Amino acid sequence: MARIKMNPIVEMDGDEMTRVIWSMIKEILLEPFVELNTEYYDLGLVHRDETDDRVTHDAAAAIKRLRVGVKCATITPNAQRVEEYGLRRMYKSPNGTIRDALDGTIFRTPITAPGIEPIVRPWKKPITVARHSYGDIYSAAEFRASGSCTAELICGDERKTVCEFRGPGILLGQYNNDESIERFARTCFGYALERGEDLWFSCKDTIAKVYDGTFRAIFERVYRDEFESRYRSAGISYFYTLIDDAVARVMRSEGGFVWALKNYDGDVMSDMISAAFGAMSMMTSVLVTPDGCFEYEAAHGTVTRHYYKWRQGEKTSTNPIATIYAWTGALHKRGELDGNADLSLFARKLEDACMGAVADNVMTGDLAALRSGVTGVDTAAFLEAVRDRL
Ligand code: NAP
Ligand code: MG
Repeated sequence: MARIKMNPIVEMDGDEMTRVIWSMIKEILLEPFVELNTEYYDLGLVHRDETDDRVTHDAAAAIKRLRVGVKCATITPNAQRVEEYGLRRMYKSPNGTIRDALDGTIFRTPITAPGIEPIVRPWKKPITVARHSYGDIYSAAEFRASGSCTAELICGDERKTVCEFRGPGILLGQYNNDESIERFARTCFGYALERGEDLWFSCKDTIAKVYDGTFRAIFERVYRDEFESRYRSAGISYFYTLIDDAVARVMRSEGGFVWALKNYDGDVMSDMISAAFGAMSMMTSVLVTPDGCFEYEAAHGTVTRHYYKWRQGEKTSTNPIATIYAWTGALHKRGELDGNADLSLFARKLEDACMGAVADNVMTGDLAALRSGVTGVDTAAFLEAVRDRL
């Protein structure tokens, strides 16, 4: 068979078990079928240290240029990693660096597999969570008030009393800005439109009338000015409701929508949604920018515990599905942007082959644990089962 040709995408290699799986996926599932054309950046911790993290910035610039990237999970160093790898400094999370450079929004979607039932019974279709990854409590100023004092907010010429402390207490000053909220809203509306799904947004504007009220008003304005007519012709809608009402409705819904959330709400809800859909190993993630760049990856980490076993020569049953879906997401998008139908079709067929294997009860240990009477296979055996079906 002639291999499928493609225009370049950005390939970002990573760490530990996912780095091992990365090369297996390429060898077993991609290279036999596609003339892989990638601009390769090694974001493995060793090479990040060698380049003083230059490589991460270069990869981000390459995504801006080529518009499509695929990333392997990477270690975010902490003190223990600095020692383990003898690092020169404690580098920032590569995901954080890339997100800041591209000013994008991260959408996380669970992969629903045959026979793996969500814990929430009514859910039939995936729920995509979009988290506004800027501001609020993540870049707030905090105080511990130690005794009687007055806390005030001062902004330019205006000031307001927050609290007259009579004893010890706590204080938090958080902010956001219209430009970031507007870019977030636009990216969410665009992404839901692309998926052909409704967009939900929820916050607490009845309580934080100015703060959350601004989020709500900006979403409404962007919808009205830029998306309303396109949503109508696509047969989808925009739905705003209070965060507590939204949580209750999500539990009773069938799924199949994009849920946009403020920074903290998105942090919390995305973990709840992924756990309730089955397993963290079945969550994909894509970083999208308002001007249409896409970076795909698995939502899980480098699966350190399995890597240490693998290094001892043991076979591991690490689930490669989310990493495969990162590749299929990127290849499908490349095909779509270039009118390369063969490439897009290959991506869908590879996803079907993964689901076909799971449907035939061939799966890794994490999924087998959710099914009775099924024994998990190791990663290589799973990849071979997928290749046979492909
Ligand atoms: P993790 O790598 O996601 O793994 C946590 C546990 O979840 C694993 O030990 C395993 O459970 C299970 N798991 C996750 N993915 C799996 C898969 N594909 N197949 C089977 N089981 C899977 O999280 P972590 O151990 O907290 O973090 C490890 C490293 O990853 C850290 O250095 C962190 O900085 C990094 N990280 C990177 C990213 C990213 O690049 N996007 C995201 C998160 C974390 P069992 O051990 O019970 O089998
Ligand atoms: Mg979280």
